[in-house]
Amino acid sequence: MTISEQQNPQADFSLVLSFEDARRVVENHAAGVATRGTETVDLLDATERVLAEEIHADRDFPPFPRATRDGYAVRSADLARLPATLNAIGEIKAGEKLVKAPVGVGPGQTVAIMTGAPVPTGADAVVMVEYTSRRGERIEIARSVAAGENIVARGAEAREGGVLLDRGARLNDAAIALAASVGKARLKVFQKPQVAILSTGDELVGLEELPGPTEIRNSNTYSLAAQVKAAGGEPVLLPIAPDERARLLELIKDGLQADLLVLTGGVSMGRYDLVEQVLAEMRAEFVFTGAKIQPGRPVVFGRVSCGAGTPAREGTSVPLLPKYFFGLPGNPVSTMVTFEIFARPMLQALAGMAPQKLKFVHAKLKSEIRVKTGLKRFLPAILSGEYEDSVVELVPWQGSGDIAATARANCYIVIPSDRERIAAGEFVAIMMRH
Ligand code: AMP
Ligand code: MG
Repeated sequence: MTISEQQNPQADFSLVLSFEDARRVVENHAAGVATRGTETVDLLDATERVLAEEIHADRDFPPFPRATRDGYAVRSADLARLPATLNAIGEIKAGEKLVKAPVGVGPGQTVAIMTGAPVPTGADAVVMVEYTSRRGERIEIARSVAAGENIVARGAEAREGGVLLDRGARLNDAAIALAASVGKARLKVFQKPQVAILSTGDELVGLEELPGPTEIRNSNTYSLAAQVKAAGGEPVLLPIAPDERARLLELIKDGLQADLLVLTGGVSMGRYDLVEQVLAEMRAEFVFTGAKIQPGRPVVFGRVSCGAGTPAREGTSVPLLPKYFFGLPGNPVSTMVTFEIFARPMLQALAGMAPQKLKFVHAKLKSEIRVKTGLKRFLPAILSGEYEDSVVELVPWQGSGDIAATARANCYIVIPSDRERIAAGEFVAIMMRH
C-alpha cells in the first residue's frame, strides 16, 4: 500500500512499518534503479569503486602446479616406508627454470623445491624441508605425505576464461589484487551517484555564521556528506532550507536534479514540519512515513516523478524516471542511523553495487540494558576489550540530539523490539560504524 498522488497537505502520514519491512521495501525499490554511466580509472584509483565489467582469468590460476612449501618434490608412493632415502636430482626456485633440469621425478628421486615454484612432472607431493635431512645428494625423509599435499594443482583456483570478479563488486584490497593478477592496469567502474543533501530548519545556521542564542549550526549536512562518501556516492550540498513552503519546494526541486535526494529535519509532527507536505504537493509517492525504530521513528521514504507538477521539458517525450528521496529526522543521531540502515542500500544500488543485506555481528554485553518494547533500537555503543574478549556497552547519552556521545561510540547495539531487558554477559547484535 502506498499513498500515491497525495495532494492533500493535511494528509495523515501514517504508513509506519516495522524496521524489517521498511528495510525490505527499500531493498526492493533499490533493485530497480538505474546506474549512471561508466568511466575507466587506474587500478590505484579504483579502491572502493564499483566494478562495471567482469574480470576474467587470463590463464589458469595457478598456471602450473604450485609448491606451497619449501622442501622436496617427491612421489608420495616412495614414502610408504620410513625413513626413506631419495636421490636429489635438481633444484627449482620460484620464477626460475630448472637449475639442473630433470625431465621428471622418477621412482627413488626427488627435487629440492621452493615455495611458489612449479612442481616437476612425476612428483605428486612436497615434503616440508623441516622433515628432511640432506647428505650430499642423499635426502633422508622422516615423514610420509599424501598425494597432492603442499601443492595447488594447475587451475585449482580459477580456470582460464573463468569469472574472477563480477560486475557490481566493490573493489576491496583482495579484488584489487585479483585485478592486478590478471594484468588489469585500468578498470571500468561506475560513475559515482550524486546525492543531494538538504538540511531544513529555521534554527540552522551555516558554518560561516555565528549562531544566535537559540540557533544551532547545521551539522547534519556534513555527517551525511561523510556517510554518502563512505557509501560510494558524491555529495551535493544544498543551502539550508527554512521551514517555509515556497523556498523548501524550490530547494527540493534543485535536489531532485541529483540521483538521490536526502533531506533532514521537518518530518515530525510539528506545525513547521513541512517536508512531507511539500513533497505531497509535488505528487510524491510515499513508500513509508515512519518506522518502528529508535532513534529515527519519523523517517520517510518515497519517490517523485521529476516532471510532476511542472510542465514537461521541451523535447522530452519519454517520462522521466522517478527520483527517490529520504526524509530523515533532524536529530543528528537519528539522521546518522536512518541513513545507515535505509539510505545506504539505495545509494549502493545507484552506485552499481550488487544488493547487500544488512548484517549484524554479535558481541558480549558488559552491563544490563533495560528498554521499553515496541521499537527496534539502534543505540550508540562502545565495543572495547581485545581479540576474543571484546565487550560492548551503551554510551551514556542525552538522546538522539547528543552528537558528542555518538562521536565516542564505535558501533550501535541493536535491540529487538520485543526485548525489555538484556542481561550482562548475553550476546547482543551490533551494527559497526562505517
Ligand atoms: P526536526 O526533525 O526538524 O524536528 O529536528 C529535530 C532536532 O534536530 C531539532 O532539535 C533540530 O534543531 C535538530 N536538527 C535539525 N536539523 C539539524 C541539522 N541540519 N544539524 C543539526 N541539528 C539539526
Ligand atoms: Mg525542524
